[in-house]
Amino acid sequence: MEAVLAAARMGKKAALITMETSKLALMSCNPAVGGIGKSQLVKEVDALGGMMALAIDATGIQFRRLNLSRGPAVWSTRAQADRRAYSQFVVDYVVSSRNVEVIEGLVADIQQAGGNVTGVTTEDGRRFYAKAVIITTGTFLGGLIHIGEQKIEAGRLGEPAANSLSKSLAQLGLEIGRLKTGTPPRLNGDTIDWSKCQIQCGEEPMPFFSPNSPLRTFHQIPCHLTNTTERTKEIVSANFGKSPIFSGGIKSTGPRYCPSIEAKFHRFSDKPSHQIFLEPEGNGTNEIYPNGFSTALPEEIQGDAIRTVTGLEEVEITQPGYAIEYDYCPAHQVDRSLECRQLAGLFLAGQINGTSGYEEAAAQGLMAGVNASLYIDDEPPFILDRSEAYIGVMIDDLTTRSTTEPYRMFTSRAEYRLALREDNSRDRLMDHAMRLGLVERTEYEQFRSLQVATESAIMHFRKTRIPVDDLGELGKRFKKQSRVSLARLLKQPGFNLPDLLPLLSELGDQFTEDREALERAAITIRYEGYIDKQQREIDRFKKLETETIPDDFTYERVPGLKTEAREKFVRFRPDSLGQAGRMEGVTPGDIAVLAVYLKRHKSGRGQQA
Ligand SMILES: Cc1cc2nc3c(=O)[nH]c(=O)nc-3n(C[C@H](O)[C@H](O)[C@H](O)COP(=O)(O)OP(=O)(O)OC[C@H]3O[C@@H](n4cnc5c(N)ncnc54)[C@H](O)[C@@H]3O)c2cc1C
Repeated sequence: MEAVLAAARMGKKAALITMETSKLALMSCNPAVGGIGKSQLVKEVDALGGMMALAIDATGIQFRRLNLSRGPAVWSTRAQADRRAYSQFVVDYVVSSRNVEVIEGLVADIQQAGGNVTGVTTEDGRRFYAKAVIITTGTFLGGLIHIGEQKIEAGRLGEPAANSLSKSLAQLGLEIGRLKTGTPPRLNGDTIDWSKCQIQCGEEPMPFFSPNSPLRTFHQIPCHLTNTTERTKEIVSANFGKSPIFSGGIKSTGPRYCPSIEAKFHRFSDKPSHQIFLEPEGNGTNEIYPNGFSTALPEEIQGDAIRTVTGLEEVEITQPGYAIEYDYCPAHQVDRSLECRQLAGLFLAGQINGTSGYEEAAAQGLMAGVNASLYIDDEPPFILDRSEAYIGVMIDDLTTRSTTEPYRMFTSRAEYRLALREDNSRDRLMDHAMRLGLVERTEYEQFRSLQVATESAIMHFRKTRIPVDDLGELGKRFKKQSRVSLARLLKQPGFNLPDLLPLLSELGDQFTEDREALERAAITIRYEGYIDKQQREIDRFKKLETETIPDDFTYERVPGLKTEAREKFVRFRPDSLGQAGRMEGVTPGDIAVLAVYLKRHKSGRGQQA
């Protein structure tokens, strides 16, 4: 959806071919958007004119911010979605978007001529011509569901797999791999004893994702927290052999950070219990998603095991949990614009590149949509680097390392995370969005006003000094001064913006109304030392990134490179010395050698010593 919308916003006529329109954006697993590292992606997609933040803001049923006890580099937002309403919002949005046509069909083949993509063919023989094609097949390529020993060919439970397209991709010379993911059973909420579970409410005021979302007031639906018991462990452990994850039925790798309940009890055998979050699937439904209980055990054992979890003693399963194996294309086969190296004009985005998660898919979709559009116009690609966006971190990780297990975003993946905060996503990306035609001018100008208000608030905090005697206990920290600036106060441990607000009111302060500008200003002041240090690191990083490596550079002719480094460079074809240095197994010595030969190559003295 983000791919087709981005291309359409850039003025291209875009067709979205999907198996069933009503199932667009149907969340396959967790009915939630955001979370640590993922909400940064959602806000970046929003700053680039994407739709995901609007969809969750319009259909969320519970909103919270995470990690607030830590620094702003890792503050994140998460919302529970009304699963049905979310999908409906997206369908309506896409179907009514200008330049977008939604076509139902199963894509079976990719057409090409002379090294360029020319379109696709559907299983029923319809042919569609296009200058650029973006493939976003999720878990549907060669999808095979496992529930105990039972195997079902499907892209998702109840939906057909796409079996021909993998063959077509392989015929183009693409390497196809296999990955696995899983999902828990769904539960009937009316059969849960909620009194035994711990309630977890949403936050007020609700932290929406996009400043462009209309405000909503509604009663947020709580989540609940419970735990597995000793008995759960006994049942699951006694049945390890019946899970395809251990019996050899599943050969591919799943997400390490999101293991099945059987993998958790196996891997952490000394841990007596695991937390389970009971998350509502929406308004007007009693269906519950037990987050943390993903499983591929046979259905009756799933029932036996889950009925030993506190509060779930009488629970009824409405849909079994399952694991799914699917085809993907290891991402060294795309460049940083997400275009396939094998075929000009063919782009890959989302789960097919080895990622897992709605947010990761949305962000790649948007980038692929923009780059397909630029490709058609014969313009240079739009590439975000690691210091500009989580999107840049993700695509750089995928294309410099490729993945052998599903990749999801974490804040720890971003080395410049203090510069890549949720609150400054628009500062980082809106100029790009405006230049590319992804956002309206009015939206851009509103944001510029916020930037001006933030700057004024920063100046104001620095200039305004208040008597130390008015500060009570806090004032004792400033023994030698009679007055202290608001900026200095904001840098005091344990003193935060909410502590400053009453002082501002007393001063009759003009800025108290603009809460967002105040928050942004407070972060800038409080962390300025760290932010400046990070900026110096970014400057060093940028220098290496500008040392570009031409496409025709032949690594085979560079003596002194270790074999492992040479193989990596040939396989991944780094764009720059910086990217080359981030590849696994590459040493500073390899980079020094490469730098010398690169210089010779660029000066026209050839690559030979
Ligand atoms: C069982 C399961 C568990 C998951 N667990 C998690 C999790 O715990 N955490 C997490 O973050 N993510 C999880 N995911 C992954 C998450 O659903 C995906 O990462 C995300 O939806 C991928 O987005 P996508 O756009 O790449 O593909 P999808 O959302 O899967 O969308 C693919 C779309 O392409 C269509 N399609 C596919 N092939 C064709 C074709 N040949 N012709 C026409 N249309 C086609 C499909 O109908 C579908 O609409 C899980 C997915 C599944 C199935």
